[in-house]
Amino acid sequence: MQTENMSEDKTKIWAVVNQKGGVGKTTTAVNLATALAALDKKVLLIDFDSQGNASTGVGAHDRENNIYKFLVSQNPDYREYIQKTVVPNFDIIPAHRDLSGIDFEFFNHKNKFFILKESLKPLKALYDYILIDCPPSLGFLTVNALSAGNGILVPLQCEFYALEGLSQLLLTVDKIKENLNPALKVSGIILTMFDQRNNLSKQVADDVRGCLRDLVYDTVIPRNIRLSEAPSHGIPALLYDLNCPGSQAYLRLAKEIHKHDYQSA
Ligand code: ATP
Ligand code: MG
Repeated sequence: MQTENMSEDKTKIWAVVNQKGGVGKTTTAVNLATALAALDKKVLLIDFDSQGNASTGVGAHDRENNIYKFLVSQNPDYREYIQKTVVPNFDIIPAHRDLSGIDFEFFNHKNKFFILKESLKPLKALYDYILIDCPPSLGFLTVNALSAGNGILVPLQCEFYALEGLSQLLLTVDKIKENLNPALKVSGIILTMFDQRNNLSKQVADDVRGCLRDLVYDTVIPRNIRLSEAPSHGIPALLYDLNCPGSQAYLRLAKEIHKHDYQSA
């Protein structure tokens, strides 16, 4: 766990979100967190999906103290919930399958959409980035993540239905901004699983850039088998094979994000 003090206002709390399943949210959350940590940023990843894929992907097999317990406990000591990963500067709060029932715990709670936001308050001073790996839905957990964050990262798989889902997501973001979190911004859209031999991939990438221009990061994540192999070894792809095209793309993305934030600070 990190102990150095930071200015909490500068902490980026970003939800990695897309209600579509299997588009690269978790792969992006784990590898971007690793790449930002390699740039000497202090990073916390919240695994906010009961599937627990991000936890598995960093080898966090002990799920006893997990994000579900952290949120439902009264005055929890956050230090008990934060686990170091094998990557220096990169910590995680893992997920447990119990998380899928959390909306019932808070069914009648008057601030039920701000549960995560409240719980993250003491953690902000410890990190430069807090990334939240969201589940593939726009339900209770994702609304909590969008209410807690100051930005969203949207991995978008370069395939035919990508844009349809994106408009629904952006409408949801507008509703959250109006009703729950005026500070929420789209930090950026990340094109994932890009296959340069496939014309459809190129066409989707061009369409997304045509519609959303500055919102789309220049860095594109290629389809790369090494990215999908790494989780079974319980390590981020950057540790599994630093030189593979996928790892190198996540490093470029981290640099682009860092440069962008530095310029807009
Ligand atoms: P879910 O919605 O279920 O949480 P997700 O959006 O988090 O899914 P991932 O789990 O990151 O998506 O990726 C889905 C699958 O695609 C995984 O098997 C992953 O290893 C693989 N994958 C992700 N990105 C890439 C890539 N760039 N190249 C090759 N395989 C990838
Ligand atoms: Mg996932």
